Amino acid sequence: MCGVFGIVNERRPAGPDIFVGCKALQHRGKESGGIATHDATSDVIDRHIGMGEMSLVFASRKADTLRGRVGVGGVRYSNTGSSSIHNAQPMFGRYTCEEFALCFNGQIINTKELLDGFGEDYKDGVNSQGGDCSDTRLVVDLIATSQAPSFKDALVDVFGKLKGAFCFVILYRGEIYAARDPYGVHPLQIAKRGNDYMVASESCAFDHLKIKSEGITQKAQFIRDIRPGEMVVIGEYGPRFYMWTAPREFKFDIFEIIYFSRPDSKIHGVKVALARRRGGYYLAEEHPTEGLVVPVKSSGEHHAWGYYLHLKEMGYDVEWEPDALLRPNTSGRVWVEPYEEIRQEYLREKFNTIEELINGKDITLVDDSIVRGTTIEHIIALCREAGARSVHVRSASDLYLNPDIYGNDTYKDYLKDTLIARRMNGDVERIAREIGADSLGYLSLGKIKQAILDVAEPGCPFATDSFHDAVFTGNYALGKGDFDIKS
Ligand code: 5GP
Ligand code: MG
Repeated sequence: MCGVFGIVNERRPAGPDIFVGCKALQHRGKESGGIATHDATSDVIDRHIGMGEMSLVFASRKADTLRGRVGVGGVRYSNTGSSSIHNAQPMFGRYTCEEFALCFNGQIINTKELLDGFGEDYKDGVNSQGGDCSDTRLVVDLIATSQAPSFKDALVDVFGKLKGAFCFVILYRGEIYAARDPYGVHPLQIAKRGNDYMVASESCAFDHLKIKSEGITQKAQFIRDIRPGEMVVIGEYGPRFYMWTAPREFKFDIFEIIYFSRPDSKIHGVKVALARRRGGYYLAEEHPTEGLVVPVKSSGEHHAWGYYLHLKEMGYDVEWEPDALLRPNTSGRVWVEPYEEIRQEYLREKFNTIEELINGKDITLVDDSIVRGTTIEHIIALCREAGARSVHVRSASDLYLNPDIYGNDTYKDYLKDTLIARRMNGDVERIAREIGADSLGYLSLGKIKQAILDVAEPGCPFATDSFHDAVFTGNYALGKGDFDIKS
């Protein structure tokens, strides 16, 4: 997964705003990050890109030294392509001699077919550069070699060839082009602050872009979600909206709500925190327990709170103890780390228990999801070491049986057979034994969807069949492309 951001400011420099916007999207990826701005005076693209989190990347150069009022930024978590600076974003190309800077979130699934269009020299070139080819590099090169008569036509031409999930934010000649795939798999939104316009993966980025001038606070106002199949071009005179292709049936990635997005984001009228709490409510109905409810921080917090509250409402004997399992706030997302060995190190450092709160108690751990099972297995062991009498586990999402290939790569896990629910043939009792839990319950997919629809504001386009939920169902609505997945 990645986070993308773009802004066209009326007067202010773009660099600091993009830095803040990208930091707000840091939970979507922290392998690399960067900013590109268009300097109107010299008509060149200024840039700063590096490995690691935004604050690390911008320790060596401050964002306010980037020249220009218009620019894009991205934070990256590798799906395809290695974790290297060659694959960092924004990525650059030239269209009729003019440079463009591209940020991408999603995953293209027909890269083999697209690569074939380029021939052997290209493949050799790519191999000598970074060892492998990211789908982003391919898209950049497709745009650069397009014969279409204008940049916008080139984009429409190239997007039309892509299969998979994508959100693009592109800087070209001082304008921002933002577009979303026809299924709307991942979020992309637009906001306005005075005469400044910005696009971002998630609305939480807009909330941080308040400015104070002459004692007046000016907030960024959310305009709307960019539609599936839509492109917005933001220039000197504000945004112009186009449908670059006809929208298809909505297939919004249900994991954006369950796990990926920040709880303070609102996407298509669904406040993420509220949907998670509502999921916890249904989890309480489906799999009640008694004793101490402990969230697996931080992604499981809202689900767990909803779970606890509803158990209490229903008269169960429960207590809420959010700090029994401590997560030092210096630790980040374990998963956004592509190497298993490093993940293990992070996992050891990520959690600790407060023994005094756990000793002799019946504990119910609530997490948003169980994918490989390594996180929860580790935590259950910690609770037992701390003297828990029993340890129960509740997952606020259903059995994770199939790999994701539309932006959150669990295909590697599929190949290594490390998706625990799949490895155990969906047998919940066996999974419970494997991770060492006294009991285990998964929230059913039907109720996950219901929870989202329950909290949706009027006008929300979602219905029960509007979700990409292949990880639970094996139904790959956009096809499997290059991926070989058995049902
Ligand atoms: P597991 O150890 O079972 O593989 O991972 C489960 C944990 O990772 C859960 O706490 C969940 O919050 C988090 N998680 C689940 N899916 C994803 C994902 O796609 N990406 C990242 N970064 N974390 C995930
Ligand atoms: Mg988690």
